Amino acid sequence: MTNIQAVDTAIQERIDQNLEELSRLCAQPSIAAQGLGMEPCAELVKEMLAARGFNVQILPTAGFPVVFAERGGRSNKTLLFYNHYDVQPPEPLELWETPPFEPAIRDGKMYARGVSDDKGHILCRLAAIDAILAVDDELPCNVTFLIEGEEEIGSINLAPFIEDHTDLLAADACLWEFGYVNSEGVPIQYAGLRGICYVELSIRTASRDVHSGTGGSIFPNAAWRLTWALNSLKTPDEQIRIPGFYDKVVPPSERDLQLLEKLPDPADEYKERFGLQGFIKGIEGGQELKREAIFTPTCTICGLTSGYQGPGSKTVLPSEASAKVDFRLIPNQDPQEVLLQLRNHLNNEGYSDIEITFLGGEAPARTDPDDPFLQMVVESAREVYGVPMMIQPMSGGSGPNHAFIHHLNVPVATAGVGYPDSRAHAPNENLVIENFVDGVKHTARILVNFGAD
Ligand SMILES: [Zn+2]
Repeated sequence: MTNIQAVDTAIQERIDQNLEELSRLCAQPSIAAQGLGMEPCAELVKEMLAARGFNVQILPTAGFPVVFAERGGRSNKTLLFYNHYDVQPPEPLELWETPPFEPAIRDGKMYARGVSDDKGHILCRLAAIDAILAVDDELPCNVTFLIEGEEEIGSINLAPFIEDHTDLLAADACLWEFGYVNSEGVPIQYAGLRGICYVELSIRTASRDVHSGTGGSIFPNAAWRLTWALNSLKTPDEQIRIPGFYDKVVPPSERDLQLLEKLPDPADEYKERFGLQGFIKGIEGGQELKREAIFTPTCTICGLTSGYQGPGSKTVLPSEASAKVDFRLIPNQDPQEVLLQLRNHLNNEGYSDIEITFLGGEAPARTDPDDPFLQMVVESAREVYGVPMMIQPMSGGSGPNHAFIHHLNVPVATAGVGYPDSRAHAPNENLVIENFVDGVKHTARILVNFGAD
């Protein structure tokens, strides 16, 4: 078995070299939403994997290509790393202290767009592989990489790609694209992700805006129509009124509730960080807050647009109105079913004039928190962080894990280099170099322990 102390030494010896590579990767823009730099970035990722002796292919999808790489190892088990090479747009540029695509190191942190989400995680996996190969001439297990280019635009083509390549992607386990330590430095394991169904609701009631004195009494008003339609979706006590919406929701198990008990109560931190007076539904904190935050599906108005919103008054009757709405979903809800239920509900409530545009969806999926692979990842953290990972039964966020869990039949675990102030998607995205080193050490242990058992 690989000597892990020698691997740790090799990690330290190579850290500057790995950070230089990370800097090179971050200097290459790859903004999926704007189609900027995507092919050159895929090529660069390919080059970095090939330099480690991987067989690399750039495979097409209906959108941006996927980088797939494989290298054999000692054990016949295969560990699949899922990552993404695309990043979020860097705007607003004026809020960056140094330009987003000119990586800079200050106070033990590297700043750049993508340095944490997700290029830092790509380099974290590569650095672990480098250190192991410096000590051993073989990897402890077979390793494959699936590095997509559309994660930040909802992984729209990933699930079909996975379904079409189940043989190529066959693996025994998958390490997910992210991982975090909390504000106490304790690494968190997310045993699943909520799903999402994202829609735009829109209505047009006239060919143009009208004088409110002319139309106010006799013309339909787009803003009111939309407001009433939105009002039909949820009651003031937060019950979603769409028939069938809750039918497939699986409540938390006893084990989930036990795991939640062990997590710290985030109530005070949330109140302070977000300037809240309190929470909805009369929730005060503790176990109730932790359970509701993850295990309750949502209907969120993300944006609302209609009529005149400038200074002063303008007596106008708006002809158009629209809203962006997202639903966070719990296993076993399905985004396409929710879409259909929403359409039926609006029709039945008298809002067939409201148009629904589906903007994206991801099905929810979970890995059993007691799955042996997930438990190994949790325990492997102990030597690095001084404590095992704390297990959160599910993340409140979403991602494309459903296809991995249900089409590749692999357990999915998280581990990585993020922390609460990574500022992913925001200006001054950063990576704490110490967290990077810990993430590399953890990833190396995951590889070694996976190969050993
Ligand atoms: Zn992201």
